[in-house]
Amino acid sequence: MIVHPELRRAARPARRLLLAATVLQGVVTLTHLAQAALLALALAALARGETSGLAAPLVGVLVVVAARAALTAWQRGTATRAGALVRVALRDELLAHLGRLGPAHAASAAHSPGQAAARAGAVRTTLVDGVEGVDAYVSRYLPQLLITLTVPPLVLAGLAAVEPLALLCLVPAIALALAGPRAWDRLLARRGREHWDTYEELGADYLEALQGMPTLRAAGAVGRTRRRLEERSAALHRATVAKLRVSLVDTGITDLAVQGGTVAAALLASWSAVGGSTTATGTYLLLLGASECFRPVRDLAREWHAGYLGVSAAEGIAALRTAEPAVDDTGRIPGGWAAPPELRFENVTFAYAGATTPVLRGVSFTARAGHTTAIVGPSGAGKSTLVHLLLRHHDPREGHIALDGHPTTDHAPGSLREGIAVVSQETYLFHATIADNLRMARPDATDEDLTHAARTAGIHDEIAALPDGYATVVGERGSTLSGGQRQRLALARALLADASVLVLDEATSSVDERREADIVGELARAAAGRTVLVVAHRLAAVRGADHIVVLDGGRVDAEGAHADLVEAGGVYARLVEAGRGPDRGVAA
Ligand code: ADP
Repeated sequence: MIVHPELRRAARPARRLLLAATVLQGVVTLTHLAQAALLALALAALARGETSGLAAPLVGVLVVVAARAALTAWQRGTATRAGALVRVALRDELLAHLGRLGPAHAASAAHSPGQAAARAGAVRTTLVDGVEGVDAYVSRYLPQLLITLTVPPLVLAGLAAVEPLALLCLVPAIALALAGPRAWDRLLARRGREHWDTYEELGADYLEALQGMPTLRAAGAVGRTRRRLEERSAALHRATVAKLRVSLVDTGITDLAVQGGTVAAALLASWSAVGGSTTATGTYLLLLGASECFRPVRDLAREWHAGYLGVSAAEGIAALRTAEPAVDDTGRIPGGWAAPPELRFENVTFAYAGATTPVLRGVSFTARAGHTTAIVGPSGAGKSTLVHLLLRHHDPREGHIALDGHPTTDHAPGSLREGIAVVSQETYLFHATIADNLRMARPDATDEDLTHAARTAGIHDEIAALPDGYATVVGERGSTLSGGQRQRLALARALLADASVLVLDEATSSVDERREADIVGELARAAAGRTVLVVAHRLAAVRGADHIVVLDGGRVDAEGAHADLVEAGGVYARLVEAGRGPDRGVAA
C-alpha cells in the first residue's frame, strides 16, 4: 500500500492534474452511490405498491447515468493527460541525466563491448516500458487508491445509520479485501523484480544480438545465439507465470472477501426486513450500499494490475536517475572561443576505475592554437584515453588539460561538448536524411550553410550524386555510407557547428592505408584554422601534422616534426621502420 518514493517523485510534475483526476474519480463514485440510493427509493416504492412514487427516482437514475458517462470521459481525459505529463517529465529527466552521465556510464560497469550493449538494452527497457508502467501506476492506480481509502468508510458510516449490524459483516470483509493481498506483497514484489530483471536481460540480449549480427554470422554463431535467446525468452515466460500465479492468489482473496461480504450483507438485510427492524427503503439501501462499498476495492484491484509494471521498474528508474556521472559538472566558463584555443596537457596521469596501473603517466604537451597536432604510438599507448579525457568522459587523476589556460574542469559542461567535435568513422548517424543529420549540429542552418559545410568537408559531390541528394535517408549506423563518407559527414557537421577544436580519429579498420592517409590529410586541410588533434593509429596519417607527439606506454616518448623524430631514433623511428608507413606517405 505504501507508494514507492520513486513513483511519488515521478507524480510530482502532474500534481494538479492528478488531484483533478482524483476529485473527478470521487465524483464518479458519488454518482454510483446516488444511483444506488435512488434505486433503493424506487424499489421501496414498488414494494409498497406506490407506483406514483416511481417516476421521480427513475428519472433521477437516468440523469445520474448520463452525468456519469460525461464525468467518466472527463476523468479519463484528465488522467491520460496527467499520465502523459508524468511520462514526458520522467523521460526528459532520465535522458538529460543519461546525457550528463555520458558514454563513460555504459562503459564503466561493462568489461566488454557486449556488456555495454547489455547496459544500453537495459536502459532502453527502463526508459520505454518502465516509464509506461509508471504512467499507469500514477495516473490510474494512485487516484483509485485515494478513492478506495476514503469512500468505503463514508459509505459504511451511512449504512451504520440504517443498520449498525451491517458493520459487523462489511468491515471485516473490506479489511480482508484490502489487507489480505498485502500479505503476498513481499512475495509479489520479489516475483515482480525477478520478472523485470528477466525482461531487462531479454531486451539487452536482443539489442546485442541485433548489433552484433554481422559478427555472429561471420563466426557461425547465429544458432547458438538463437538458442540463448530462446532460453532467456523461456525464463521470461516462467517469471511471468510465477508472477501471475501470485497475483492470481491476490485477486482470489479480494474476490472472496468482496463476494462473501456482499452475500453476508444481503442475508443481514433480508433478516432485518423479515424481523421488521428496518423500513423497506432501509433494506434496499443496505443491499445496494453494501455492493457499492466494494466497488472501489474491486476497481483498485484492477488498476493494480495495470500499474504493477511501474512498481517493478521503480528500482531501475531510481538507479538510473541517481547514477553518479564519472565527472562533476561544476565548471562555469561559458562555451565558445573567439579564436581556436590552445590545448595543453599538463602532467596528466590517469587510471581507469578498478585498474591499478595508470594508462597515462605524466603526459604533457601543447597543441598549438589553429594548428594540427598528431598523436601517434603503438596500440594501447593511451591515445584514445587522451581523447576521452579531453571530452571529459573521465577526469585526470593528476594534472589537468587546459584550453587557453583554463582547465577543462572549469568549463561549463555544455561548452566542451559544443566547442570540441570528434570526427571519426564511428560517428553515429541517425535514421534520418543526410540534411537532418547535418542539422543536428545547428537546427537553423540554411540549405546554403549545409552545402557550404559539405563542400569544405569534401563530401558535397558524393551527396549530390545520390538519387535523393541531401534528402537521402541513411541507416541507423549510416550503413548506406562508407566509413570515409561518414567521417567527412561528421566533419561537415563539426564545421556547421563551428567547433573550434576538432579531434580527427583516424580509422583503424580501413584496408587501404594510402587512401586513409589521403583522407586524413584532406580532413586536416578542410579543418584548417582550427585546433586539430589527429589521433593516428597508423603513421601514414601524420604527414600533414605541424607537430607530432609520440606516446608510448602512457608516456610522451618524444615530440617534434616527422624528420626530426626519425633522426632522433627512438619509438617513432622504430614504428616507421616496422610500418614503413610515413615514408610511403611522404613520398606520395
Ligand atoms: P590506444 O588508443 O593508444 O590504442 P587506449 O587509450 O585505447 O590506447 O588504451 C590504453 C590502455 O587503457 C589499454 O591498455 C587499454 O586496455 C586500457 N583501457 C582502455 N579503455 C579502458 C576502459 N574503459 N577500462 C579499462 N581499461 C581501458
